[in-house]
Amino acid sequence: MGNSVIIIGAGLGGLALAQGLVRASFNVTVFERDESPTSRAQGYRISIRSMGMNALTAILSPEKMSRLASAKVADVGDAFTCANEKMEPFFSIPQGQDAAHQFLRSELRNVLQEGIHIEWKKRLVRFEDTGRQVIAYFEDGSHAMGDLLVGCDGGGSIVRELLPLVYQKGLGSIPKVVDGNRAILGGQIDRTPEWERLLPLNKTGMVRFLGPNSHYLGVCFSERADRSPTVFWAFLEEIKDPNAPWYQFDQGRILKHCKELMKNEPWHENLKKLVHDTPVEAIMPPWLTRTTQFPNSDQFPIAPTGRVTLLGDSAHAMPTEKGLGGNNVLEDARLLSTLLTSSPKPIDWLKLIGKYEREMFARAKIAIQESESAADYFRGLRPQS
Ligand SMILES: Cc1cc2nc3c(=O)[nH]c(=O)nc-3n(C[C@H](O)[C@H](O)[C@H](O)COP(=O)(O)OP(=O)(O)OC[C@H]3O[C@@H](n4cnc5c(N)ncnc54)[C@H](O)[C@@H]3O)c2cc1C
Repeated sequence: MGNSVIIIGAGLGGLALAQGLVRASFNVTVFERDESPTSRAQGYRISIRSMGMNALTAILSPEKMSRLASAKVADVGDAFTCANEKMEPFFSIPQGQDAAHQFLRSELRNVLQEGIHIEWKKRLVRFEDTGRQVIAYFEDGSHAMGDLLVGCDGGGSIVRELLPLVYQKGLGSIPKVVDGNRAILGGQIDRTPEWERLLPLNKTGMVRFLGPNSHYLGVCFSERADRSPTVFWAFLEEIKDPNAPWYQFDQGRILKHCKELMKNEPWHENLKKLVHDTPVEAIMPPWLTRTTQFPNSDQFPIAPTGRVTLLGDSAHAMPTEKGLGGNNVLEDARLLSTLLTSSPKPIDWLKLIGKYEREMFARAKIAIQESESAADYFRGLRPQS
């Protein structure tokens, strides 16, 4: 008793936390709504900087850490270039600055899943807190009991949504995750010598092409889950009609929409070709951006018993412009697993979770401000006609 942890969500945060806790002999189960590890596309690559790498080093065994090397995407560069829609660069951050490691998301997830007890097809629908235990209830009618429940269930977190219903009195400061009003639509195409010639700015790393009408196109070299090389592109637009069909996962509609937008704007021929030549089945599910607003008060822990908390995007979804989201998710996992591991037993949940949330939200607030400033900066670089 006293060391069983229920983790909701087998994303980056839930799995990283589980790794840290299993290593310290906590009794951990991860509950994930997806049917299996492969039932959802994992997106392309993710840049992990020193914050995330230090967190992974603290969480993972040296053996797993060394195997993480195989999850890196080779030969894609870690520089960042910002250019206009004609492929004329504004500036470039050269390679080796806070040398970001480029991981293939599916491979990173594979390593983080190893040795973790994950129950698939378990969608959390509600939870109860008796003061001595937390009970999680799932859509299939089953339930699980634990000493602590951690909501690692992403930006649309049901754990966060349920907090005011479960704790009417004594609830602390809950962050409000809101729509960022922008959508990212993307796809990928085989990386061939021709594409390397047509996309010269991409040789050193990712390029963000800022176009008219607050549109931008992010382009990077990457790999598919089977490790075949690809060119990945992601088109960002401000959402005018949230019910537009291309915000559903209809690959044909998404591709048609991107092609039409680019056709009617002065994008470089090579960038138009990139989108035009992308096969329809290589279009990714749309991603609607989110950000987080914090209440003025800093009253932690959020749950008056300290037995339920949030981690990752469920606590602090942020704009993608600085690539800080995942790094903060990993640091949350390091912080919480370190506090739990080093705490005297029996654990004083109120004190421990209060300390975790204070530190986690203070750091996340800064990351969100930086990410929003970066988004404003990029908008300002390409004055709108
Ligand atoms: C286009 C893009 C590029 C990005 N690039 C970078 C980058 O380069 N570097 C970086 O640091 N960050 C980046 N990020 C941000 C980063 O990907 C996220 O911050 C991170 O993946 C969030 O992890 P998470 O575990 O908190 O949430 P998620 O990865 O969203 O995982 C949540 C999990 O919970 C599950 N779940 C949800 N509800 C329930 C339920 N009711 N019951 C059970 N399970 C549930 C979901 O199925 C999911 O598996 C990027 C994001 C985007 C969109």
